[in-house]
Amino acid sequence: MKFGGTSVEDAPAMKRTAAIVRGRREKGLEAVVVVSAMAKVTDLLLSAAAAAGRGDKAGALAIGARLRHRHIDTSSTLLDGQRCVRVQQVLHQEFDALDDLLRGIAAVGELTPRTNDLVVSFGERLSSKMMAETLEHQGLEGVHVDARTCIITDASYGKAVPQDAAIEAKLAEIVLPLIQAGKTPVMGGFIGSTADGITTTLGRGGSDFTASLVGGGMHAGAIEIWTDVNGIMTTDPRICPDALRVKTISFEEAAELAYFGAKVLHPATILPAVQKSIPVWVLNSRNAENEGTKITAMAARCASPFKSIAAKKRLTIIDVVASRMLMSHGYLKAVFDVFDKYKCAIDMVSTSEVSISLTVDSNQQLPEICAELAKIADVKMEGHKALVCLVGEDIRGHNGIAGQVFSAISHVNVRMISQGASEINMSFMIDEEDVEEAVRSLHNHFFANPDETVFDVVNRVQLESKA
Ligand code: ADP
Ligand code: ASP
Ligand code: MG
Repeated sequence: MKFGGTSVEDAPAMKRTAAIVRGRREKGLEAVVVVSAMAKVTDLLLSAAAAAGRGDKAGALAIGARLRHRHIDTSSTLLDGQRCVRVQQVLHQEFDALDDLLRGIAAVGELTPRTNDLVVSFGERLSSKMMAETLEHQGLEGVHVDARTCIITDASYGKAVPQDAAIEAKLAEIVLPLIQAGKTPVMGGFIGSTADGITTTLGRGGSDFTASLVGGGMHAGAIEIWTDVNGIMTTDPRICPDALRVKTISFEEAAELAYFGAKVLHPATILPAVQKSIPVWVLNSRNAENEGTKITAMAARCASPFKSIAAKKRLTIIDVVASRMLMSHGYLKAVFDVFDKYKCAIDMVSTSEVSISLTVDSNQQLPEICAELAKIADVKMEGHKALVCLVGEDIRGHNGIAGQVFSAISHVNVRMISQGASEINMSFMIDEEDVEEAVRSLHNHFFANPDETVFDVVNRVQLESKA
């Protein structure tokens, strides 16, 4: 059971989370609890680390003080008596260590990726300790497990790669005996360590990934991702308030949505679940009665071609134009080798007789990459682009889908199109500023008359009756 930042954001949220765990335990189920840092804490830790790295010691420590306050405050509301005193002692010790670390970074005036991971790890370390105490306090036998003892990774700081065999062995050694003794192990998501014990992180949003590593490694019956929406929706409800809950979706569809920007799930979450055929549920910790979304190998057939629409912003299109060598043997390899050298992931590719267009995340080392590409071709870069991706296994059986998609957004300038790579997605690139409008137009077109076997229309009925 993984609880995201909003599910542990304050004392009431932690109590709700404890009640959800209680519900599972009362059904006789065994559970491992994985928690994120309290909402917004990761962002604040990152800005504290950055301030220290700039030599701004006062700025960094001020953020540390704010975080200390919030955690101590929450623990006062959540716990009482000796337990509260004991937890607050631990919190103060940890925040003293964080302050020392920030002072050290500020003194050197340099922030390495390795130290950045150590700073940011405090968020999950502290929230998980508080959650473990809360479960213990409520008679649920919560036991804190330092995730860094189990989630073994390589040393790619900021986006470390989990080592599956080592993780499985550690889970069997450390977590399984706790389960067998009737305890509820609680660990922080997102964080891990190298085999030598150096702290690492799995990348932003990585607590979902921790949950599926633990679920996969322990052969769990289910992986539950508890968040602040009713499940995977037909699009981001922040863009379209009338987005509908998708009742069931396939692993492939969910993976595609996550990769192309649906923040509700970290893109790596699906793989461990697929490997062990473990169903994944996305559930709402603020509305625990709701059925959520079930992600499984086989999703229900659906009358509409798409299940959901995702969007990913902050992308750059790179056009690589070569007049002579194009399509000659080894040319594409030479281009892709440059991206490989900088470990830069490419989202979309399209080729013509003379050019290759690629899209990448805008925060990559683009100037260096373009300088290298310029040795073999003319290079043009266009930033502030976004990718919109429509996902559904039933695209295959529908004729004229592309026509419908592009007529629904005929007022939007489309820069690149891709369909067919996975047969379950249709994606295109547009200007970042057109995303909301494009997603809303597509949503209105494709989800106006939803198939009730796959989509939950209750939300829409409520919205309509309010109107
Ligand atoms: P957590 O902190 O629980 O991990 P996140 O903020 O990472 O939560 O993810 C949940 C958010 O994902 C939702 O509040 C919603 O705005 C956003 N989101 C984006 N696309 C979708 C989608 N297709 N379905 C549901 N939520 C989505
Ligand atoms: N706390 C981390 C983040 O904000 C990991 C997570 O919440 O999944 O990215
Ligand atoms: Mg998340």
